[in-house]
Amino acid sequence: MANMDVYDITIIGAGPTGLFGSFYAGLRGLKTKVVDVLAEMGGQLTALYPEKYVYDVAGHPKILAKDLAKNLATQAQLFKQTIALGEKITDMQQIEEGIWKVTTDRGTEHFSKTVLLALGAGACVPKKLDVDYPTEMENDCIFYAVKNKERFRGKDVLIIGGGDSAVDWANEFSLIADKVTLIHRRDQFRAVQTSVEEMKRNSVDIKTFYELKQVIGNGVVEQATIFDNRSGKEETIKCDAILINIGFVINLDFLKAWNLKMEGNAISVNEKMETNLPGVFAAGDICTHPAKLKLIATGASEAATGVNFAAVFINPTAKAFPGHSSNLNLSI
Ligand SMILES: Cc1cc2nc3c(=O)[nH]c(=O)nc-3n(C[C@H](O)[C@H](O)[C@H](O)COP(=O)(O)OP(=O)(O)OC[C@H]3O[C@@H](n4cnc5c(N)ncnc54)[C@H](O)[C@@H]3O)c2cc1C
Repeated sequence: MANMDVYDITIIGAGPTGLFGSFYAGLRGLKTKVVDVLAEMGGQLTALYPEKYVYDVAGHPKILAKDLAKNLATQAQLFKQTIALGEKITDMQQIEEGIWKVTTDRGTEHFSKTVLLALGAGACVPKKLDVDYPTEMENDCIFYAVKNKERFRGKDVLIIGGGDSAVDWANEFSLIADKVTLIHRRDQFRAVQTSVEEMKRNSVDIKTFYELKQVIGNGVVEQATIFDNRSGKEETIKCDAILINIGFVINLDFLKAWNLKMEGNAISVNEKMETNLPGVFAAGDICTHPAKLKLIATGASEAATGVNFAAVFINPTAKAFPGHSSNLNLSI
């Protein structure tokens, strides 16, 4: 323990849950580190839907996801917490009683008395289609997430997918793009019904049972060949931007190797957000319990609970209740 820089709490994941947990850990006076594989903080808010408005976060009647992420990141660092970005956690071991060692793909090691797993859906790696196209097209005209919706203004956009992201973007782009075509390999949509109904009312050309076969263009996308997966009939359509929203690759097998109790792809926690491992807590989308809701609001609440009970784990004489932040006088 002599040469180890041991933190009170290491939070894995800088999504909304981990960031709010970081704030609470600072409030509790815990020496805190946050680690994330991505280069930017915000988790799904920045990686998947930065340009969408969120309406169900307490105190924000309407806020862009990227602005919410920015506020969370500011709040997460109020107490000068350490943030380590671009590091993927690959292993976690208890090296002695009360000390966890967290190892990353870069070979770095983090030592901590407690760990809060706020991994969300795991590293947000979008699923790719099995269609060949020059990779440089991903910089300009083939997208897996919308970072800046203005790039789609005036374009002929082809959207692939049938979930919330694909359908929501079809609706948004119908207001700014020249033409929006959405293809989906089935006629059932995973997106919420009201959004699907809205898409049907909007000027979106919806083609169910269609898949992408080929991207045509010289350096940039000019056309796409799509096919009807029932008849094989092909069609070539004009498009200059393609948005592929077909889900994410989820690989959480490494969690099982850490002997965490899981329920499907989620970590089981009790009402204190404790996992089955001593000093290891989980919160947000990655965890499950009988009242689980996967929302930013509930993730924040779980982070606050987990961190406050981590404080008690470290110092059993401490109270779980942190007191009211309104009693503080922070210079922000
Ligand atoms: C299109 C869309 C719209 C949504 N709209 C809303 C909404 O309006 N309201 C709402 O409440 N919720 C909404 N959600 C859900 C909400 O975004 C999630 O509930 C929330 O992001 C979960 O936060 P989290 O911090 O638990 O996980 P995440 O946001 O997934 O963050 C997890 C973080 O952990 C990191 N990570 C994962 N594995 C590792 C590893 N091995 N090493 C290091 N880092 C790792 C990831 O890179 C990521 O940054 C929406 C989701 C989507 C996809």
